Amino acid sequence: MQYKEYGKTGKRVSCIGFGAMRFDTSKSLAENAELVRYACSMGINYFDTAPGYCADQSEPIFGEAFKSMPGEFHVSTKAMPTSFDTARKAKDQVRRSLDRLGVSKIHFYHIWCLRKMEHYELAMRPGGQYEGLLELQAEGLIDHIVCSSHMPGAEIKRIVEDGKVEGVLLGLNILNFPYRWDGVKAAHGAGCGVVAMNPLGGGAIPPGHEKELAFLAADGETPTEAAIRFLAACPEVTVTLVGFTTPRQVDAACRVAEGARPFNEADLDRIRRRVSENMNAACTGCGYCLDCPQNLPIPSYMQYYNEKQVFGRSDAEMIRQLDFQHNWGLLAGRKAGAAECIECGQCEEACTQRLPIIERLKEIAAWENGRG
Ligand code: SF4
Ligand code: SF4
Repeated sequence: MQYKEYGKTGKRVSCIGFGAMRFDTSKSLAENAELVRYACSMGINYFDTAPGYCADQSEPIFGEAFKSMPGEFHVSTKAMPTSFDTARKAKDQVRRSLDRLGVSKIHFYHIWCLRKMEHYELAMRPGGQYEGLLELQAEGLIDHIVCSSHMPGAEIKRIVEDGKVEGVLLGLNILNFPYRWDGVKAAHGAGCGVVAMNPLGGGAIPPGHEKELAFLAADGETPTEAAIRFLAACPEVTVTLVGFTTPRQVDAACRVAEGARPFNEADLDRIRRRVSENMNAACTGCGYCLDCPQNLPIPSYMQYYNEKQVFGRSDAEMIRQLDFQHNWGLLAGRKAGAAECIECGQCEEACTQRLPIIERLKEIAAWENGRG
């Protein structure tokens, strides 16, 4: 396992982190806890969870594992400023997580799921979440206050330059990096830790797409391995969170991380070119269409639609993906459903890719209906 410095915190963390949102909830607490301890025995020392993950069982599974997990490890959990908008509520929530995790402190506490600057401002307002977290930090219950964000690079830059958080968790992978790189560079440049989530694109880089995604991989490597190697070896990325369900997945990620060789500039150029070819008529996440009178999160919807555009997913697969996207992914906490588009045309006018957004939203609305 390779270890990296997490920003300026003085903590050394494994380049692969345990993302605790993929437990098999048909298994017992004890069986899942065994998987966590196995990952620790393989050198993973960064464990990331959140209230609500895995039918709200993720924090208790970690708690069960930590009862008998040897050695030093780092725990991360989260709370959204939209739900915990006062210092008191924020502190109560941290205490609840401490209790469920059975630990005396949380090493990395995330102001969770910042999708726009208003969320950050809400967390930072006087008497808000950040103030509560600072109080707990002074009491020694939190080591480092960090955040997770789905915002464009320029806004991440504003947050890290504000100097209040010590790290950022971002959705980053080998397919979307050309559009996320500004945020990564800004965070790394400001001395923050950078944690990548969704290294497999929330299912966009699954095993079984070897042919379409062969351009990502070096000789003898699968696209999935390449996707993990890309992040694990990236100097600007501190931890790559991989969602584990089985010990085999832990082994595979650790094996890739062990000898991970960074992609060179020629590799990256090749991938950038192929991604933009493959992603012709796909959303780049530029964010020029954000001003929707119906508050629709258009870039998030269009990036989700990329999976049909780029990989030709079936309707059934797209419906299956919706659950993940609505609960934890691009569409978490959205204000309006796709069916609420009034076809004003403003977004299509603004779209840098000239995408047929209105038609795509109709398809998505049908999938959302299909999901019930
Ligand atoms: S066409 Fe629909 S999605 Fe686009 S800006 Fe108007 S209401 Fe929003
Ligand atoms: S303007 Fe077009 S390409 Fe840019 S985020 Fe919106 S839909 Fe995607």
